[in-house]
Amino acid sequence: AAKRAGRSTFADYDASLNQMERTRRDLELDMRTAITEGQFRLVYQPQINLRTGAWAGKEALVRWEHPTRGAILPGEFIDIAEETGLIIPLGEWIIRQAIHEAVTWEEPHRIAINLSPIQMRNPNLVGVLTSAIINAQIDPQRVEIEITESALMQDSESNVEMLHRLRELGVRIALDDFGTGYSSLNYLRAFPFDKIKIDRCFVSEMLDRSDCQAIVRNVVMLARALGMETTAEGVETQEQYDWLKRHGCTEAQGYYISRPLESSRASEPSRDPSQWAEYRELGTNVHP
Ligand code: C2E
Ligand code: MG
Ligand code: MG
Ligand code: MG
Repeated sequence: AAKRAGRSTFADYDASLNQMERTRRDLELDMRTAITEGQFRLVYQPQINLRTGAWAGKEALVRWEHPTRGAILPGEFIDIAEETGLIIPLGEWIIRQAIHEAVTWEEPHRIAINLSPIQMRNPNLVGVLTSAIINAQIDPQRVEIEITESALMQDSESNVEMLHRLRELGVRIALDDFGTGYSSLNYLRAFPFDKIKIDRCFVSEMLDRSDCQAIVRNVVMLARALGMETTAEGVETQEQYDWLKRHGCTEAQGYYISRPLESSRASEPSRDPSQWAEYRELGTNVHP
């Protein structure tokens, strides 16, 4: 019986692997037409200035409205897009769309755009950003590029060179998901980031775990000493918000402030936190 159970477990495993492979292949095929068919859209999550309570910027987050599978989150398709190279046309669309939508906003908030490491290695990146900025006539200082540590790790020398070229355009550069991956303080020395985004895993545990709290407190101090801003990711409670504000973190982003919003809904609410419930609700039907 044990043997049979063992065998059937393996068969199940095998079948589910095949299922995963198939889903992946299907998604890959579908993605080839999804861009031209307009199935991608961007939602925007506000980043709040902790000192003033005003919105400082919004991060563009991509969503795939699949015709039969429904809404798909980036966690399910970004790595497929990277492996197939489709991240290049998709990333281009994201850059143009985010900048294009940002200039329609009532308030001139900053627009933060995530870049994949693959895009960083594309020599056309500077050209794409430049033309998007010129076409939209946006102040490049309103544009913030978010790159992760893993992007820097892979061939860090040419990536740092690319960062300098982007900086010459006048855009701001943020280091995303700081503290995950193989963080090295050398990255902070190699390039003068405008901002460090402290990863959600530290923020969500910082009030329960002294190690996470020590990390957040010290990243904030280090960033300040280096002249960089800090954004805490994944702020979900008022306690976290208050603690971050007290400890000099410069910005916060997370469900406590607002879920990602449709571009047209993404205008600034009251600065009084008791009025934010509406925004927390609004985004829930846009999904996380
Ligand atoms: P990220 O850049 O770190 O983005 C933050 C993610 O955390 C978003 O997930 C956001 O919806 C989620 N989030 C925000 N606040 C909270 C919170 O309070 N609690 C929790 N539990 N989660 C929160 P999303 O949109 O699913 O994106 C996941 C990742 O996919 C992003 O992480 C980013 O690495 C990547 N991504 C998203 N959009 C793009 C894009 O346009 N281009 C590229 N290359 N990558 C993207
Ligand atoms: Mg990001
Ligand atoms: Mg992040
Ligand atoms: Mg993160």
